[in-house]
Parts: sequence; C-alpha cells; structure tokens
Amino acid sequence: MNEAAARKAARTKMMNTAKTMNKTKYMRDYVAKSWQELVRLRAADEFGWVTCVTCGVRSQWNNYMQGSHYKQGRRMSSLVDPMNCHPCCNTCNKNSGSLDKFAIFMAGKYTQEELDALDRRHNSTVEYSREELVEMNLAFKKEAREIKARLKS
Ligand SMILES: [Zn+2]
Repeated sequence: MNEAAARKAARTKMMNTAKTMNKTKYMRDYVAKSWQELVRLRAADEFGWVTCVTCGVRSQWNNYMQGSHYKQGRRMSSLVDPMNCHPCCNTCNKNSGSLDKFAIFMAGKYTQEELDALDRRHNSTVEYSREELVEMNLAFKKEAREIKARLKS
C-alpha cells in the first residue's frame, strides 16, 4: 500500500470509530489523547526528556509525564489549545494544589494579554464536525510520529 492509500485507510478507520460515539466523547477519548502525547513530544529534548512545568522533575516523555491542562474542565474550546496544555508529571497532574505553580509558570511564559485571550477562548463555545476532529487526530499523530523518528536514544 502506498502512502496516500495508507493515509486514506487510516482516515476511514478513524471516521468509523468517530461515528460510533458523540463528538465530545471522541474529542476527549481520542483526539485529546493524541494531543497530549504530542504536547509531551513537542516539549521533549532531543533524547526525549521532558520537564514538569510545575515541579521541575524530569522524565522520558512516555514515562510518568502527562499533557496537563491549565484551564480545567476538558472544554472543546481549550482541550487542544497549545497555550493551555503543557507537560506535568503524574503527581502534579493529579494534585489540584499544583495549579498555583502552574499559574506561576503561565505568568512567566505568557503576557497578561495572552492569558486574557486564553480565558476568552476557554469560555467560548466551539463546535467541531466529526471530519474536523478526525483531521486533527490525524495531524497530531503524524507530527508525533515525525518527532519520535527524530529522537536520539
Ligand atoms: Zn511535577
């Protein structure tokens, strides 16, 4: 199978999965999962090491690390917003107390205008079609594959 045919087959398979559930569930269970993997890979160094943005612990991107959301609630509007998702270790991601440290990280990385804009995006209503969700999922998986292929062991 050539690359175009393989891509088409992957898209069809994903679309069939997406059709079996409502769009919010597909977004949360499938698209967000691909996204969180990509967030960790984008943040990784050339050897795959990632730093938790709230406690500073370092680990391999696929071990003990998660893509953690600053604005909570798993809203469609901010679930895959690059500004809203950063790597955290499992412990910090489960501990709501680390949100204070997350806020300090965000304040150091972004301007107040950018943070206000994230607030507005988070609080807005966003609707995606199943086709759009599948395209997002495919794009996240493709970029993740490309980054993984570049990692040095
Ligand atoms: Zn941590």
